[in-house]
Amino acid sequence: MLILHCPNCGQDVDETDLHAGGEAHLKRFGPGSTDDEFEDYLFRRANPKGVHFERWHHTYGCGKWFLAARCTATLEVFGTYSAQTPEPPQDIKDAIKSRRPDWTWESQS
Ligand SMILES: [Zn+2]
Repeated sequence: MLILHCPNCGQDVDETDLHAGGEAHLKRFGPGSTDDEFEDYLFRRANPKGVHFERWHHTYGCGKWFLAARCTATLEVFGTYSAQTPEPPQDIKDAIKSRRPDWTWESQS
């Protein structure tokens, strides 16, 4: 079972108390964007086998959103952090890099 630490209320939470919100750190496009940019924003999502950044909602708890970095292949969790963060904190990037030396944040965006 996937267990994530909610950074809002400080609890370690089973995935049954959470609701997945999809990919994190999406670049938003609106009026003035091209059709391709808007289509990418609305419909195209990364589905990696490996490091992934996700939005999670603590539905049966504090009711707030947070972000998580984890490996989709092994379920290893690298860390969780505030949903108001534009990119992962350095300590989470360092944790990923220590376990996946070939990984870079730039390859994610
Ligand atoms: Zn919470």
